[in-house]
Amino acid sequence: MKSHYMPRAGFCPNCRNLADAARPLKARKVPTAGDVAVCWYCGAVNQYGAGLTLERFDNWREACHPDQVQLITRMVGWILLERMMRGQ
Ligand SMILES: [Zn+2]
Repeated sequence: MKSHYMPRAGFCPNCRNLADAARPLKARKVPTAGDVAVCWYCGAVNQYGAGLTLERFDNWREACHPDQVQLITRMVGWILLERMMRGQ
């Protein structure tokens, strides 16, 4: 999978780090409003809003398909494990 530079980068609403790249899980090239975004820095689950700003997505477990919930849960767990391994 290839990462895509986001020219209109936003900030993670949880950790405030700049999210200037996105890696799609499907063939689509760039994110669109409504897509889920897991923050690489803190593991927060966000959602692209209008203008591709990142917004908190607190009810993602209820809003997403069970297959997506499983995938997102794995991604968050992997990111948090990486942070723990790096002592962060
Ligand atoms: Zn974050």
